[in-house]
Amino acid sequence: NNDSKRCFGCGAALQSGDTAKPGFVPASALKAETAICKRCFRIRHYNEISTVTVDQNAFVQLLSSIADTDSLVVAIADIFDFEGSLISGLHRFIGRNPVLLVANKMDLLPKGLNWNRILNWVQQQAKAQGLKVEGVALCSAKRNVGFERVVERIDQLRKGRDVYVVGATNVGKSTLINRLIRDYSDMDAELTTSPIPGTTLDAVRIPLEDGKAVIDTPGIVYPHRLTEVVPKRVLSKLMPDKPVKPLVYQLQEKQTLFFGALARFDFVQGEPQSFTCYVSNSIKVHRTKLEKADALYAEHKGGLLSPPDSEEWNELPPLARHRLFIPKGKKADVYVSGLGWIAVNGESGAELSLHLPEGVKYAVRDRLI
Ligand code: GDP
Repeated sequence: NNDSKRCFGCGAALQSGDTAKPGFVPASALKAETAICKRCFRIRHYNEISTVTVDQNAFVQLLSSIADTDSLVVAIADIFDFEGSLISGLHRFIGRNPVLLVANKMDLLPKGLNWNRILNWVQQQAKAQGLKVEGVALCSAKRNVGFERVVERIDQLRKGRDVYVVGATNVGKSTLINRLIRDYSDMDAELTTSPIPGTTLDAVRIPLEDGKAVIDTPGIVYPHRLTEVVPKRVLSKLMPDKPVKPLVYQLQEKQTLFFGALARFDFVQGEPQSFTCYVSNSIKVHRTKLEKADALYAEHKGGLLSPPDSEEWNELPPLARHRLFIPKGKKADVYVSGLGWIAVNGESGAELSLHLPEGVKYAVRDRLI
C-alpha cells in the first residue's frame, strides 16, 4: 500500500502519479524500503527547490498552520495575472502575521514605466481585494531586477522571525526562492525539508544566519486562471517570456477581436475608439465584424484562430459569454486571468462582450498602465 509510505526527507506521502504534487518518486523507487521524494532529492543534491502544487483544500490546511506561528508572510503575485494570482483570503488563514506582497515578473511589462505608479496600483488593488499588507515590492526574479529591494523589505519586516513564502502556481515562487538561497541564506547550513505540524504537507526550510528560516510552501492551483485550463503545450504561448509589445486596435462598434481561439472580445456599442491589448505576443489577434464572429469561430478555431491548434482546442472548456459596461469617464482595463488585459482608451463609455472558457476569471479594473 503506497499510501502508508512517506518521504524520508519531508514526510509527504509518496506517489508516482504526478511530478508536480508533493511526494513524487518514480514508480521503481516506491518499492524501496526507504525513499526520498524528487523534491527532497533536488534539495539535497543541488541545493535547489522545485515547484510542488496542491489543491485548494490542502492549501487552506497548510496556510492555517501559519496562523499558529509568529512570522512574516511573503505573498508572491504575478504582475501579469495580478488578480488571478493573488491569494485574497490570506488573512483568514495566516492570522495576525504581517504580509509583504511581492509582485513578480515586472520584466513582462513594457519598458520605461514609472514603478512608483505601479507600486501604488498594486497597493490599491490588494486593498480592494481585502488584502492588508505591511509592504509591497516589485521585482523580476528571473531577470534579477528589484530583487535587492525585496531582500531589504524582508529584512525590515521580519524582525528576527521566520519567513513563510506563499503563492499560486507559476508566479515565480521557486525562481525567487532559489535567488534568495543564492543571495541571502546562510550558505553553510543545509536546506532541509520538514513537515509543517498539523498538516501532511512538506515545506522547505532555508536557514538564515540568525537560526531562523525562509520556508517555502507548495503553490496553490487556481482553476480560474486561463493558464491552468489550457493544454500544457498552449501554456508556453500564453505565458510571455519577454516584455509584451502592446497592440493597439482602432475599433468601431460591432467589431470583434479574437485572441487565438482562447478568448473573444466584442465591442458591442460605443463611439469609435482604440483598445490596447497586453497579451503574450505568441497569441495571434484577429479582428473581424461582430456579425461574422460566430461563424468565423465555428469554422476557424484551431486554424486561423490559434492557439490552441486543431488538436488542442477541444481540450478547452466551452466559451461562456459575459456582458460588460464601461462607464463614461472611467480609465479601465478589461482583465482576463492568465491571458492579460485590454485597455479601453476612450473614456466615452462602452458596451462590451467577453467570451472566455467557462470558469476563467475576468474583471473591469483601474488601468494598470
Ligand atoms: P512557481 O510555480 O511559483 O514556483 O514558479 P516558477 O519559479 O517555477 O516559475 C514559473 C514560470 O515563470 C517559469 O517559466 C519561470 O521561468 C517564469 N518566471 C519566474 N520568475 C519570472 C520573472 O521574474 N519574469 C518572467 N518573465 N518569468 C518568470
